[in-house]
Amino acid sequence: MFEKDLKKIMTEEMFNLYQTMSVTKVIDGCDDLSWCPTPGCKYAFEKDQNRFSCFLCYKEYCLDCRVEWHQDKTCLEWKTEQVNNRDETDLID
Ligand SMILES: [Zn+2]
Ligand SMILES: [Zn+2]
Repeated sequence: MFEKDLKKIMTEEMFNLYQTMSVTKVIDGCDDLSWCPTPGCKYAFEKDQNRFSCFLCYKEYCLDCRVEWHQDKTCLEWKTEQVNNRDETDLID
C-alpha cells in the first residue's frame, strides 16, 4: 500500500533507486549476504556454500577461490594449479 502510494508521486527511475537503496541497507547489516561478483550485477545472495550460480547474469562462481566456477576441479585442485602456474611464470622470468 505504502509503495503503491510512493509510485504515484515518484518517477519510475526514482522508485527503482528507492528500492535498490532499501535492499542495500539490509545487506550492509548482514555478514552472511554477498553481492554477485559480476560487474554491474546487483544480485545479492546468502553465503551458505562455495558454489554460487547467479539468477541474473547466469554466471557461476566459487566464493572460496573468488573466481568463476572451476567446473571439474575441487577448490584444492584449482588452488594447487594456480600455485604451479605461478612457479612456471617465475622460471620464465
Ligand atoms: Zn550476477
Ligand atoms: Zn573453489
